[in-house]
Order: sequence, then C-alpha cells, then structure tokens
Amino acid sequence: MIPYGRQSINQDDIDSVVEVLRSDYLTQGKKVSEFEENLARYCGSKYAVAVSNGTAALHTAFNVIGLKEGDEFITSPLTFVATSNAGFWQGAKPVFVDIDLDTGNIDVDKIEENITSKTKAIVPVDYTGRPVDLDRIREIANKHNLSVIEDACQALGAAYKGSKIGSISDLTVFSFHPVKNITTGEGGAILTNSVEYYKKMKRFITHGITKEGLDEKLGPWYFDMVDLGVNYRLTDMSCALGVSQLKRLDSFVEKRFEIAKRYNKAFKDFGNIITPKLDTDDIQSAWHLYVIRLKKGVSEKRLEIFKKLRESGVGVHVHHIPVHMHNYYKNLGYSSVGLENAEDFYNSIISLPLYPDLSLEDQDFVIDSIKNII
Ligand SMILES: *Cc1c(COP(=O)(O)O)cnc(C)c1O
Repeated sequence: MIPYGRQSINQDDIDSVVEVLRSDYLTQGKKVSEFEENLARYCGSKYAVAVSNGTAALHTAFNVIGLKEGDEFITSPLTFVATSNAGFWQGAKPVFVDIDLDTGNIDVDKIEENITSKTKAIVPVDYTGRPVDLDRIREIANKHNLSVIEDACQALGAAYKGSKIGSISDLTVFSFHPVKNITTGEGGAILTNSVEYYKKMKRFITHGITKEGLDEKLGPWYFDMVDLGVNYRLTDMSCALGVSQLKRLDSFVEKRFEIAKRYNKAFKDFGNIITPKLDTDDIQSAWHLYVIRLKKGVSEKRLEIFKKLRESGVGVHVHHIPVHMHNYYKNLGYSSVGLENAEDFYNSIISLPLYPDLSLEDQDFVIDSIKNII
C-alpha cells in the first residue's frame, strides 16, 4: 500500500540519534536547546520551546495565555481533534466557525460575528499546510484584544507574505509526528517572540519549576515550584533527530510542492474532481496534505471510490472529520448549525499520497487509479 504520508529518514538522521544514545544525557541535555534555537532561527522567530507532541504544544500555548474556565476561543472545525481538545483541558470552550470552501481554512468573514465578551483567542488552523489570512486575523484580534494561537501542525516550512510561519502569530504550534513535514518520532514545539511567554512555557513543561532568582543560602539542590506544570519535555534523541531533519526541511517542502503540481497537472482536464490551489507570491503552503474534492454527482460515491482505491493499493485517507461531529462534542451540545461548509467539504474530500520520497512511478499509479476508479 502506498501510504498517504510517511517520514523520510537518512543515515545522518540515524547517526545523530545514535550519537545521543552513546552520550551522557538522553534527556535535558544540549540537543534540546540546539533544536529549539535552530527551529526559531529557521522560522525567523525569537524563541522556540520543544515539547513531547503537537497536542502538548497546543495545551502549553493555551496555558500560557491564561485561558481558563468561562473563556471561549474561536477555531476551525476542519482539524484534528487535538486543536479544540487542548482548550477544554484549560476549562475553556471552543466556538467553531465555518470554513471557506476554496481552501478549507476558517472563513475569516465569519469570525467577528462569533466573538463574545468571553472570547480570549482566535486559533486558526493552517489546513493541509496552507497559511490562513494572518493579516486579517491579526486585525480582528487587535480590534477585540484577543491572542492568536496558530495551529500550524501541518504548516512547518510554509510562508505568508514573505515571512515564515512561526514568526507571525503570538504563539505558533508545530507537530513532528512522522506524517508531518519533519519528524522527531513524537514531538512538537511552540514558537513566540515574547520572552515572558517563552519563560513561562519553559517552566510549564517541566512542572512549573525554576532555579532562577533563588537565595544561595537555600542550598545548591534547591529549586522552587512557582506555577502548576506538567512534564511535556522532548528527549535529546528526538531533538537530535529534529536538528538533522530540519536541515532538509526546505528540500522536503520543495519536493512536496513538485508532487502537488504534478498531481494538479495530471488532473487538469479530469472533470470529476476539484484540485487544491497552488502557491501564490503571498501564500506558500507547506504541502503537508494533497486533498482533492469530488464534484457533485461523484461525491455521493466517495465511500465506494475510497474503498476501491485502498483495495488497489492506494493508501488514501480523509482529513478531517469535522470536530463537532464527534460524539464527545455532540453530547456537549455542538451541532451542525452554521457549519454546513465544513460538512459539505468533509463529505467530498480524499487525501492522496504526498511525501518527499514518493516515487514518480508510485505517483503515476495513484493518478491512473484515481482516473480509472472514478
Ligand atoms: C497533527 C496535528 C495535531 C496534533 O499533533 P500531535 O503531534 O499528533 O499531537 C494538532 N493539530 C493539527 C492540525 C494536526 O495536524
């Protein structure tokens, strides 16, 4: 089966991890800050905090802005469940805003009508790696005094109006799961330009513990716990893999874009599907996913088409089941009202294989299978 996504690991990656295994520190060593510094530099941001996965990164971001019970945040329903779940852990309530059918990203025109006195943050998701309109979201956030936490788990390597994703929002969250644009096994990070956020996040991910500003008389063993925290640390093995992978990130994104363009070209005159929008000067996607939409008349048969593709060895997938459609959310009273685009979109989509090591032969096989089966 040709998978929809997979990691690309070379000898340098393996050597970097082995080197850590032979060293003194498997965690809390030097590789962590090296990875954080390289990631921040790559994104053009001041600080990065490495954490154990993208979900932990989201939780850390929600914690650092002080999101709490009684608060609301605005987000997209077309995402992985982690985006909104992480806000629930802080006691806050997600408010889903419908998507734009052209991109699958949150419909910026509908954000303001969903803002209430309880809203504390806008949490846009860069669906498939394509940046949302960050300028317009920033404008709305400033007008209503809200934080912007960007779920860019799919968008590492993307750029918006010439700036790398990770340098723009108050907090930007990445994931390094093996299907994402670089991997550390499990892993994630939060990027910010705020030194206060940075320090507080570093404390939060290690039990709220600090050694800063302590009286020497307390003894060299002494540490203080100043906030309630968790253990979301990423290991040195993972960070070494991250340092090595980051060197190839640009080539990974380039390769993904090449594959996406090749798909678009192959499907150009094939009338049954809608292909994703390609990059422009302002919007450069990280091309985490290649999602096609079946047109009306064909989309009714999505299940059948999907099954036949899998049977023929094409590991297609569907991203994502809109979050409000899950039972946990339904039981809390979330409904389809106002989220019709997200549901229509969901009912018509299929994700095709897209990863840097996808061979031309395999891609041709995917293209032929799509055309034959549909
Ligand atoms: C992958 C992903 C996450 C979760 O990341 P993990 O590292 O798997 O915890 C969250 N949000 C989005 C949009 C994702 O794609």
